[in-house]
Amino acid sequence: MPEAPIAQHARSMTDDEGGMPEQQQTPPGLTSKMHPVPDHGESSWVGRGRLEGLKSLITGGDSGIGRAVAIAFAREGADVAINYLADEEEDAREVATWIEKAGRTAVLVEGDLRDEQTCRDVVARAATQLGGLNIVVNNAGYHWARGEKGLKGLTAEQLDRVVRTNLYATLWVSQAALEYLGRGDSIIITSSVQAYEPSVSMIDYAATKAALNNVAANLAQELGPEGIRVNAVAPGPIWTPLQPATKEPEAVASMGKDTPLGRIGQPAELAGAYVFLASPAEASYVTGTVVGVTGGQPVF
Ligand code: NAD
Ligand code: MG
Repeated sequence: MPEAPIAQHARSMTDDEGGMPEQQQTPPGLTSKMHPVPDHGESSWVGRGRLEGLKSLITGGDSGIGRAVAIAFAREGADVAINYLADEEEDAREVATWIEKAGRTAVLVEGDLRDEQTCRDVVARAATQLGGLNIVVNNAGYHWARGEKGLKGLTAEQLDRVVRTNLYATLWVSQAALEYLGRGDSIIITSSVQAYEPSVSMIDYAATKAALNNVAANLAQELGPEGIRVNAVAPGPIWTPLQPATKEPEAVASMGKDTPLGRIGQPAELAGAYVFLASPAEASYVTGTVVGVTGGQPVF
C-alpha cells in the first residue's frame, strides 16, 4: 500500500532527517514568515459533506492546526467562525478566504481569550453572526520554551499566560457555548502529547494539557445526558507558527525527528481527527476520549 499523498508531501517538506530549517519569530507568530509555509490541506482536503449545515467556532483558527481544521470543516459543509489575536489579522483574513472559497460563511472574531469576558463576547459574537453554534474547538494555546528550563526558569507572567490561554479560556469558552449547544453538538479540545510525555522545558504547558484531558473526561460526563459530546485531540510535534515563536531555533529544527514516523507532522494531518470527532454521524458514540495524532508517540 503506497504512502498517502499528504504524508508524501509532509515528508518532502522536511530535510533528510525529518527536521526543518532553524528559524525564530516573536509570539504569536505568522504563517507567512515560516520556511517552509505549513500545509493546511489547501490542495489536498476533499470534503464529503460530513458537517453539512453545521456552525462552528475554532479558537486560534487563524494558523496551524486551527487553520487546517477551519479549511476541512468548511469543505465538509460547515460555516466557520475563527478567533485569533489582533497581531494575527493577516493570517485570519487568509483563512476567511479559504472558507469562502469552499462556499461557506466565514466569521472573524478577534479577541484575547486570557480575559473571561472576552471569552464570553467571542462566543456570543460567533453564535450571533453564524445564527447558532454546533461545534466548538478550543484550540488556542501558548507555551514558552526559551531561556532557563524547568521550574527554575518559570516566571509568574509566563505561568499566568500559559494557564489563562490553555485552561481558563477553554473553560470560559465552553461554559459560554452551553447557551447554544444542543443534542448532537460537540466540544473538541486541543490537548498535546505533552500531557503524557512532559518536557522539562514546558512544565507549565504540559500541566495544562494534562488538565485539559481531565476536563474533556469531566465535561463528557456532565454534558452526555444532554447529548453533547466532548473529546480531545492530542497532537505530537506539528509544524506551526507556535514553534518558531516560542522555542529556540535548534529545538524547532529537530522537532519530530525522534518520533516513530521520523518527522514533524503538518497541520493538514490533524484535520481528519477533528472532522471525525465533530461529525454527529461518524462519532455519535464517541465522547470523553483523546485521539492522538503524534507520529507514534504514545498517548496512553
Ligand atoms: P498556532 O500558533 O498556529 O496556533 C495557536 C493559536 O493560539 C494562535 O494562532 C493564536 O491565535 C491562539 N492564541 C494564543 N494565545 C491566545 C490568546 N491569549 N487569545 C486568543 N488566542 C490565542 O499553533 P498550533 O501549534 O496550531 O497550536 C494550536 C494548538 O495545538 C495549541 O493548543 C497547541 O498547544 C496545540 N499543540 C500544538 C502542537 C505542535 O507541535 N504544534 C503539539 C501539541 C499541541
Ligand atoms: Mg496564529
